[in-house]
Parts: sequence; C-alpha cells; structure tokens
Amino acid sequence: MKRIGLIGGMSWESSLLYYKLINEEVRAKLGGFNSADCIMHSVNFADIEAMQKSGRWDDAADLLAQSARHLYQGGAGCVVLCTNTMHKVADAIQNAVPIPFLHIADATANAIRASGYTHVGLLGTRFTMDEPFYSGRLTDKYGLTVLLPDADGRQMVNRVIFDELVHGVIRDESREAYIRQIESLAGQGAQAVILGCTEIGMLIHPEHSPIPTFDTTVLHANVAVAFALGD
Ligand code: GLU
Repeated sequence: MKRIGLIGGMSWESSLLYYKLINEEVRAKLGGFNSADCIMHSVNFADIEAMQKSGRWDDAADLLAQSARHLYQGGAGCVVLCTNTMHKVADAIQNAVPIPFLHIADATANAIRASGYTHVGLLGTRFTMDEPFYSGRLTDKYGLTVLLPDADGRQMVNRVIFDELVHGVIRDESREAYIRQIESLAGQGAQAVILGCTEIGMLIHPEHSPIPTFDTTVLHANVAVAFALGD
C-alpha cells in the first residue's frame, strides 16, 4: 500500500471527513484490520483565508508547495489537497514534488463521465464558481457543460461555506437555500450537481437533492485509496 499524503486544514472539518472516508474505503476494499497508510499536514486556515481574501495567491502557493514537500519527505506517494478552492494553485504544488498530485476536479469529472452526464451544476466558494481554474478544467479536459447559480445564488452559497460550514455549523435554512439553488440549476438543464466544496457534503446529502450529487470529498478520497492500492 502506498502512503497517501494529505494537505488538510481547509477546513479541518472536511479534513476529518477525508480521514474517515479514506479509512472506510480501505476497510471496504481490504477488510480485516486494514486501514490507510497516510500522513496529513494540516495548515492554519486563518492564514489561507487571509491570503484568499487579499488575493495573495502566490503566498498561498508557496505555503502549500512547502506542505507538499513535507509530505514527500515523510514518504508520501501522492499529494491530495483537501479543498477545491486551493486547486487554483495546483500547478505550483505539483511542480514542488516528484510524486503525483491527485487533482480533485479530475476525480470528479471522471465520475461524472462514467455516469454519462454532460450538463452539471457547480456549487462551491466564490473562487471556485467565478474563476476558470475549476470549471474550465471540467469543460476543456472533459467536455462537460457547467452551470452556475446566478450572482445572488453564488453569494449565498459562498457565505454559507465561510460563515457556517467551515466552522462546523449546519443550519436547516441554509440547506433549504441550497436545495432551491439546486432546483434552479436543474431548471437550467443540469442533470446532476457537483458539491464543489469539501464541506458541502456536511449540509447536503444525496437524499436532499432533486438531482444526483457528486460529492468532491468522497470522490477525491476514493481516488486517493485507488492510487494507494494500485487499482
Ligand atoms: N473546503 C472548501 C473548498 O473545497 C473551502 C475552503 C477553502 O477556501 O479552501 O473549496
């Protein structure tokens, strides 16, 4: 089994899910007493959030590249960045280490393609929804059509992530608001919706959604295990 290297802390609420999901998947695949060989470097999210807010993406890239080097030095066979948003600096992280960087959008797009969907809604932080680094990869590399909430919807989705989910706060009214956004995306032609922020799965479960969900945290964790087990 190869060692999985995780860059966590963005937020630690979802890093916790990665740890659980990865170990559950190893148990499902290998059974017995098997659990994942993994290491996590968990950063201080306050530093990252401040860099996002002030547009200091180069500083964030340096910090996360350094984190990837620590994982590599610790024997990791791959790097898993436990946030969609910070994939904005994915290239800098990949360039810092000679081991594979398992991109969360690739994990997600491959699952969508395998399901046969071509039109998908995307919910995430304002960076993930507004900027091309994420949806552009889904479109250019995988031919998917990506649908987004309108400006008010994007603002609400982003606010719930930063004011509630990364603090571990789950509110019924926020779930209702998210479901309305998903209904609206379905009305625009979305066949499924990407939960494109690693905390959204805490709020929206498949049974809440009128269309199928693709939870990036689950898909990314499964790809990490497949890599570790050489599947
Ligand atoms: N975990 C989130 C994501 O998947 C948001 C936190 C962050 O800004 O990194 O995008």
